[in-house]
Amino acid sequence: MCKGSEAETLLPLLKGIKMAKLIKEEGNEGRLHIESPLMGESLVSKEFLKQTEAAEYFRMHPDINVLKIGGQSIMDRGGKALFPILDVLIEAKDKHKILLMTGGGTRARHVYNIGVDLGMPTGVLSKLGDKVSWQNAEMLAVLLSKHGGVKIGHGDHLEQLTMFCRQGYLPITYGIPPYGFFEHPAEFGSIPPHRTDCGAFLLAENIGARSLIYLKDEKGLFDKDPKKVKETTHKDLKFFDRISAGELIEMDLDDLIIERPILALLQRAKCLKKLQIIDALHHPNHILEALEGQNVGTTIYK
Ligand code: ADP
Ligand code: MG
Repeated sequence: MCKGSEAETLLPLLKGIKMAKLIKEEGNEGRLHIESPLMGESLVSKEFLKQTEAAEYFRMHPDINVLKIGGQSIMDRGGKALFPILDVLIEAKDKHKILLMTGGGTRARHVYNIGVDLGMPTGVLSKLGDKVSWQNAEMLAVLLSKHGGVKIGHGDHLEQLTMFCRQGYLPITYGIPPYGFFEHPAEFGSIPPHRTDCGAFLLAENIGARSLIYLKDEKGLFDKDPKKVKETTHKDLKFFDRISAGELIEMDLDDLIIERPILALLQRAKCLKKLQIIDALHHPNHILEALEGQNVGTTIYK
C-alpha cells in the first residue's frame, strides 16, 4: 500500500477529483477566486461523493499495529491475567510497532446501569463511561513505564505514533471514541453503541494501521456466547476462524465478541481490510503469532 516516494503515495489521492484552481476575476483587479469541484455542492449527492473516492488512501502509520486490551475480558481480572500479557507485549514491542488501546469493563457497566435506571440518554451514558478506559490506560502506562509505556491522549500525539515506536516507546491510549453528547442513538436500548472496540477500529482505520487485534478471553467468535451456554454443550458451538463482515451482518447473531457497529464500519473501511480477535487471556503468545500474521483466533474481513 504505502510505496516508496511521497509522490508515489500522494498521487493516487489526486486522481479521483480535479484540484481547486485559482482564477482571477475579470475587470476587478487583484481579486482571486478559488474554483473548486466542491463549490456549490451540498456534499450529499451520492453520485458526486463517489468522485471523491481515492484510488488509494494515504496511510499515516502503516507499520503500527493497534492492540486493544479488553476491559472486562482482561483488565478486570487483575495481575494474574495481565502480567503474562504485559511480558509478551514488552517482548513484542522490540519487533513490532504497537499502539495499545484500552477497554472499559465492569466499572463502565456499573455506571451505565445506574444511568439506565435513571433514564439517562445515550450521550450522557457515553460521557459517564468514558473515564473507565482512561483509568485502564493510566494503569497500563504505570505498569509499563520502565519499558517505555507512555500514555497519550487523542489530541496532538496521534501523528507522532511512529516516532514514539521508533524511539522504543510503547504508546497507550484509551479506546473510547470522543462522541460524548454526540453519540448516535442506539439501535436497541440506550447503551452507547460506539465503545472501545469501535474506538480502536476507527483509530486503526484512520491512521492506516498495519493491523488491528483485539485481546479477549475467548478463542474468537462463535455462533453463541460460550459463557451463556452450558460447558457440556461447548462442543456444539460453531467456531469461525475466518468470516466476512457481510456474512456476519447477514447472519444477524444475537451476540458478538466485538461491538456490532464494527461490522458495517469494516465494510466501508478504506484502509483496514480485516481485524483479528484472539484469546490473549489463556494464550498470551497468540499476541506474537497474530503480529506475525498467523491465523490465530478469528479474522473478520471486509
Ligand atoms: P472486552 O473486555 O474486550 O470489552 P467483552 O467482555 O465486551 O470484551 O466481550 C467479549 C465477550 O463477548 C467474551 O468474553 C464472550 O463471553 C462474549 N461473547 C458474546 N457473544 C459472543 C460470540 N458470539 N462469540 C464469542 N464470544 C462472545
Ligand atoms: Mg466490550
